[in-house]
Amino acid sequence: MYIGIDIGGSHISAGLVNQDGKIISRAEVPNNSRRDYKEISKDLADLCKQLMDSANLSLKDIQSIGVGIPGSCNDKIGESIYANNLNLSHAPIRAEFQKYIPYPIHIENDANCAALAENYFGAAKGASISITITLGTGIGAGIVIDNKIFSGFNSCGSELGHSVIVVDGPLCTCGRNGCFEVFSTTQGLIRIAEDLLKNNKNSDIFKQVNGDLSKINGKIIFDAVRNQDKIAEEILSIYLKYLSEGIVNIENFLMPEVIVLGGSISKSGDIFLEPLKKLVAKKVYAGNRIPHADIRLAQLENDAGIIGAAMLGR
Ligand SMILES: [Zn+2]
Repeated sequence: MYIGIDIGGSHISAGLVNQDGKIISRAEVPNNSRRDYKEISKDLADLCKQLMDSANLSLKDIQSIGVGIPGSCNDKIGESIYANNLNLSHAPIRAEFQKYIPYPIHIENDANCAALAENYFGAAKGASISITITLGTGIGAGIVIDNKIFSGFNSCGSELGHSVIVVDGPLCTCGRNGCFEVFSTTQGLIRIAEDLLKNNKNSDIFKQVNGDLSKINGKIIFDAVRNQDKIAEEILSIYLKYLSEGIVNIENFLMPEVIVLGGSISKSGDIFLEPLKKLVAKKVYAGNRIPHADIRLAQLENDAGIIGAAMLGR
């Protein structure tokens, strides 16, 4: 049995995971951006104890304990290096955890955990090289090569969202302008919608938000696309133009066997995936003369972080 823990901005979620990647039992505690690593580490230990107690297990029954954390982590030294939405900076989480539970825990970036889970048990199962990209409020990305996370020499990779696709484009949170992330997150989609709707009030979206453009969200846009609203279709088409540029860059750099798309935007399913695949196929290097990545929707979604963290020591 394995234990995986996912540290999120509002909750810390943990699961007891079996060797087939199924979550057998769960435990959760609230979290927030002001808590320090000592409080968080104690929670991690308490969650492990809860899960073991609930299944009448002891540490000798556990094959691995892993923790997924936003931002940069270094498993070699057991530290969360930097997480900008949590109060973590060079936080020695492993050492603190081991004060409560003497066990070798692994720590890893949460997007890398999700990528590992999809590679082991989800949409990229069996792929030699897979990349999982989470499209939500930010872009998370993880590269898995031969069942191992590839995170660069400094363990801080991979930041695929921070490659520039529009020189002098809008400012990104990383300090550069025009990053893939700026255009491909939910906010990127909403920004396109706001721009178009300023001069096109004849749209389902405009009616849905009673003219208040600050109320637009991804669901409203995709519902309007399903209703064949012309403006919504145009918003999606512009969004996919940018998204496909970023995905083609990733394909051309790394030639993965599978690209998995997760996160809130990917939940819109085929109306998003099928046109995206066509755009990528048109632009990717060497076109149909060489085999290319199969682009698939994520299967494990919200559980991917827990399952991937559980597999870190496998
Ligand atoms: Zn950036």
